[in-house]
Amino acid sequence: MSPQPLGGNEMPRFGGIATFMRLPGTTAPAELDIAVCGVPFDIGTSNRPGARLGPRGIRDESVLLRPYNMATRAAPFDSLRIDDIGDVATNPYNLADSITRIEARYDELMAAGVATASMGGDHTIVLPILRAVTKVHGPVGLVHIDAHTDINDTMFGERVAHGTPFRRATEEGLLDPTRVVQIGVRGTGYAADDFDWSRQQGFRVVQAEECWHRSLTPLMAEVRDQVAGGPVYLSFDIDGLDPAYAPGTGTPEVGGLTTAQALEIIRGCRGLDIVGCDLVEVAPIYDTSGATSLTAANLLYEMLCVFPGVDYRA
Ligand code: MN
Ligand code: MN
Repeated sequence: MSPQPLGGNEMPRFGGIATFMRLPGTTAPAELDIAVCGVPFDIGTSNRPGARLGPRGIRDESVLLRPYNMATRAAPFDSLRIDDIGDVATNPYNLADSITRIEARYDELMAAGVATASMGGDHTIVLPILRAVTKVHGPVGLVHIDAHTDINDTMFGERVAHGTPFRRATEEGLLDPTRVVQIGVRGTGYAADDFDWSRQQGFRVVQAEECWHRSLTPLMAEVRDQVAGGPVYLSFDIDGLDPAYAPGTGTPEVGGLTTAQALEIIRGCRGLDIVGCDLVEVAPIYDTSGATSLTAANLLYEMLCVFPGVDYRA
């Protein structure tokens, strides 16, 4: 039998090894279809740090999750071999070395033939992940949920930081720009045309105001049409959600997406050729309720439910 999450009637939910959803945990990614991987890294943040504690926080709150998706009937753990392979050994004293280490680890995972579901960490981590993923898959389409476009050229003069990864990814040819959608962006900018660089590349930018007070299921039909036709990477910055739902993050912006809209977005990715995903920017220390990590755990689970090969029960 493929690895299964540990049930709450076999070991209490607050006991046992802290893996995502209480999966057994493994150091042998080659035996898996999807590796759940933590990337505890936050020295790319511009405001409040703390996302280095994201993987721990997400794993801690994920103890409440159960294997079957009661809305979509997805059965990810019966369909695919999914397990938690632990964390990347980042270097907390050196951003550039951390990026090198993350890319090297994901190169190993790609060589093992697994897809990855990553727990950040700040959004800087998507750059080395995409470098590794595209060595195998070529340029990818992208569904990017975020309050921010993360397309700055530099931050404080640095080219690699949590607000620059999609500028670098575009320059490096890691993205198929006509198959990129950014959803939920909003807030204040340094210039009124801050989001226009994305549009000039061919990205579709869906600002949060276009999402207010409505279901995003119709939007996702359009998104699927746009990003289909090749491999797709799904990158979810938890600050895409409104701070009312996800206060535990470093750069919150008001007027964001609801939790229900986040579910509509992820469920709307079903049918795409998803080759990897991440959930980033969870900083549990700013949310004593644990709700941000709990939401993040659920969203990562929902992403597992839309990978190719997942069966849906009748
Ligand atoms: Mn981001
Ligand atoms: Mn953000």
